[in-house]
Amino acid sequence: MEPQGGWSRRQFIQISSAVAGGATVLGTGAAAIGVPTGQHAPDPQVGGIKILRSACMMCNAGCGIQVKVQNGIAIKIDGNPYCPQSNEYASAGKDVVESDLAPTALGTLCARGQAGLKTLYDPLRLQHPLKRMGQRGAGQWQTISWDQAIAEICYGGQLPEGPFEGLAAIRSTAPISAAESKYMDEAPSTGFGPRSNQLVMVSGRNQNSDLTKRFMDAFGSINHLDHTSICNAAYKTGGYHTFTNPKKAKGTYNFKPILENATYVVLFGTNPVEANVPTNTFGRLVASMVKNGGKIVVVDPRFSNTAAKAHRWVPIKPGYEGAFAFGMMRWLIDNGKIDVDFLTRPHEDAAKKVINGKQHYSWSDATYLIDTAKHVRLDSAQAGVLWANLTMAAGKAETVLTVTSTAGFPSKGTLKIGSELITYTGKTDTTFTGLGRGASGTTAADAALDAQISIPWMVISGGQAVPYNTVDQADLEFVGKVNNIDCETSFSMLADEVSLKTVDEYETLCGLEVGTIATVSSEFASAKAPVADMYRGAQSTTNGYYNCRAIFLLNGLMGNVDRIGGFAMGPRFNGAEPARPVTTSTSGVKLDRGKTKYAGTKPKPTRQWYPIAEVGITQEILPSAKIGYPYAIKALMTFTHNSAQTIPFPQSQVAALVDTKAIPLHICSTIFMDETAALADYVLPDGMYLEKWASPMAGYPTIHTKASTIRRPVVGTFDPITKHYIPAFPDTMLFDDVLIRIAVELGLPNFGLNGAGAGKDIFTAWQYYNLFFSGGDYTQGLDEKADYMRMGGKRQNPAEIADPANPAFALNRYGDRVDIFYEKAAASKNALTGKYFSGVPIFEEPGIAMDGTKLVPPAGYDLTLITFKRGWHTQSRTSSNEWLAEIERANRLWINSVDAKARGITNGDRVRVSTPAHTTGEVGRAYVTEEIRPGVVGVSAHFGRREAGSKQHMADGQPMPHNANIGGGLSANHLMWPEPAFPDLCLTDAASGMAAFLSPSVKVEKL
Ligand code: SF4
Repeated sequence: MEPQGGWSRRQFIQISSAVAGGATVLGTGAAAIGVPTGQHAPDPQVGGIKILRSACMMCNAGCGIQVKVQNGIAIKIDGNPYCPQSNEYASAGKDVVESDLAPTALGTLCARGQAGLKTLYDPLRLQHPLKRMGQRGAGQWQTISWDQAIAEICYGGQLPEGPFEGLAAIRSTAPISAAESKYMDEAPSTGFGPRSNQLVMVSGRNQNSDLTKRFMDAFGSINHLDHTSICNAAYKTGGYHTFTNPKKAKGTYNFKPILENATYVVLFGTNPVEANVPTNTFGRLVASMVKNGGKIVVVDPRFSNTAAKAHRWVPIKPGYEGAFAFGMMRWLIDNGKIDVDFLTRPHEDAAKKVINGKQHYSWSDATYLIDTAKHVRLDSAQAGVLWANLTMAAGKAETVLTVTSTAGFPSKGTLKIGSELITYTGKTDTTFTGLGRGASGTTAADAALDAQISIPWMVISGGQAVPYNTVDQADLEFVGKVNNIDCETSFSMLADEVSLKTVDEYETLCGLEVGTIATVSSEFASAKAPVADMYRGAQSTTNGYYNCRAIFLLNGLMGNVDRIGGFAMGPRFNGAEPARPVTTSTSGVKLDRGKTKYAGTKPKPTRQWYPIAEVGITQEILPSAKIGYPYAIKALMTFTHNSAQTIPFPQSQVAALVDTKAIPLHICSTIFMDETAALADYVLPDGMYLEKWASPMAGYPTIHTKASTIRRPVVGTFDPITKHYIPAFPDTMLFDDVLIRIAVELGLPNFGLNGAGAGKDIFTAWQYYNLFFSGGDYTQGLDEKADYMRMGGKRQNPAEIADPANPAFALNRYGDRVDIFYEKAAASKNALTGKYFSGVPIFEEPGIAMDGTKLVPPAGYDLTLITFKRGWHTQSRTSSNEWLAEIERANRLWINSVDAKARGITNGDRVRVSTPAHTTGEVGRAYVTEEIRPGVVGVSAHFGRREAGSKQHMADGQPMPHNANIGGGLSANHLMWPEPAFPDLCLTDAASGMAAFLSPSVKVEKL
């Protein structure tokens, strides 16, 4: 007998019939007739099959897929052979065209990608809008019409606790005042912004973020919040602060090793054979690299499937990846193995110049002088070398500046007035011309007559301090006085930090055998193409930011950025946000305080603020809302985001979600009854990814040629007259369409009639994405006849990774500055401790609370818990997919045989894992193994679901479909520690805001 929730032939036919009722069925071009037989041959060769190409979203990597659709029913998903994530091939020309591949070509997909069909037609999918009838979490619902749902969301209605305000009443430009906030003394002088900020949208895998942002901007709320702090906040922030990209005034983190040519790769806390983006590609590249004789070192407490392919497994103590990177830097510097030629080139022209047969395309700040007392870069005026004064009062849009004299200034480069950086491309005797105001991310500002203008960066050359752009190479190391100011170069500051410990001491911290760091460093240094990369294990800790900075800089010190076999980018073809005829702007403070400096009058804020994080701090949103900090909210929209399960220590997220006073209205758009939807007031059934448009998907930098994959529906019905799309379950609605309907209902600007300009209406998702695509690199919009629609995206020749004009370098280059010192970090404080962050990476122990204290585990909690992902599941969201559950239905606790023996545990025993905050713990089975370091236990991230279809809910008094088989195993997230000072928040990196997925200590008992 098939388990409850399985995809039976009868259910499949029911869905088929529902789809067949529509007008035009995608994939057939005509009204659907008949139903499939229920036989799902892996590669059907019968007639009437159409292939539609789109993008996978079973994980976030967006691999190209091609879906076989018969009579409007999707019957098979394969890899799109045109997508380089799914297939290795070369095209005949510079860009891929259809004739490059035979019609029979196929790409690869991972197991999750293939199982997308199960999610599409899963009978557990929500099929009608639901309104809560009992208490939040009671599982009592009423099905309602879309008209009712949208009317009540817009204009208010009645919930079991009483009436609530709708979005129309919440939208207001009046400022948040003491009536809405008990914390007005923590507001900046400009306040917390308008009351519209009391609408909060939180999204997870939001691949429709251009549209959701347009909606929130039109509404007037700044609270368009994301999930990045449970994803890659430390990686992203560390990347932005290393690859600062001053030419474009915007940093980046989009780098990956060019594995096709790398010869030695050190992977810190990442398992690309199973879990990096995209597994489908990264895993294949790892395998071919090994086959070609390349060496891989996996630094991970667990012997992952990538470690199984590796030349060396380094079973490090969890959270000490930064110490290992510091040990490597120490060894490389001490042994003269860094790329001094790269590091001493201080600007672009110098980098590109062939000197002693060497050339680069990126350069670094290694030689720039830092004022070590003020922790800012020394400028030419402070150095007493070069400056001028404005002979005009300059507005911030000025393109020419008149000064006393430009004598001594280089003919082009960067200038500084106050804290603003300005690029210039030419000069006369008394003017700077071709100005780009607000370069390097600084804010353009008005400048007064007589304001001093200087060169912002100084280096040492020939024993003198000189502007950075007057020499081709400068001194790497300097510690001394310039114009009586104590200075060091960026490199010297880093070297100082690195030399605080010996290689042996770093090794001891890492808990490794003597000689490990030296061996790896020596192999790394002598390799033809060495490169280092990291992900979850190295960054999802309280010291994640500094770990990532150190590992990124390993590449910088080796000068491998932009080099073939080194660290390089992966650009994409993109769309463009359609015009906004009405200027919309938001203001105030975001609820999560991400990217925001504390500027209140109260000396110390009530909760943490995150001035140097480059992302939103998702774990802060709901606990903050619960206490109305920094202001109370009135409505919460969650979209593809499941706070109640996916955030470490979700117990506190649940506590906030059940509080109807703190969150008076919760609207959740989802495809399943997940843990967050179960605590909503309105559950709006969304389309799944095979029924959606989205912004073009990047190939992630794993693909180093320019490439994008487009997503568009492959099933459902589409009305070519009204441009209205209905998903396969006909009473579901794309969240994009929901937002557009709400926007039109509320009369929000930039939606509806002429919403994107004259003759450009936005009444449907199709209209929005048609404009989005056509405004960018996809000029024919969503025209089904366009080549890129047939091929499922646009791509450069996937084989042309190297620049034909200079094959030692990547064709798609970063070509900008690599920063050792990040000035904004050095100038910013941890608001709770009052201590400055460091401008250069530092070694920091893991398990430091946000208030600076070291966590001390109580007696008995003596094992460290790590988390990891398997190749057949994605976070927790695929555990309900029966096809994938057949591979693994419940996880086990990985425990070393030494630790198991000490507790009398044998393989398969039932065990309890608990923390001081979760004493009832999680119960599961033990996997006793040598494949994890003693003292460490591991739990995969996919199981222990509380909802996701596993619980019985009732709608209109009738039981909703559920599957009691879902939900087995241990939930790793429930075993994460809360912050000692904030028991409603998981452990968090104060610098990047990254949530910790590493539990400092747990207790394991045999049951
Ligand atoms: S790696 Fe991710 S995007 Fe690619 S096929 Fe697998 S699940 Fe889909």
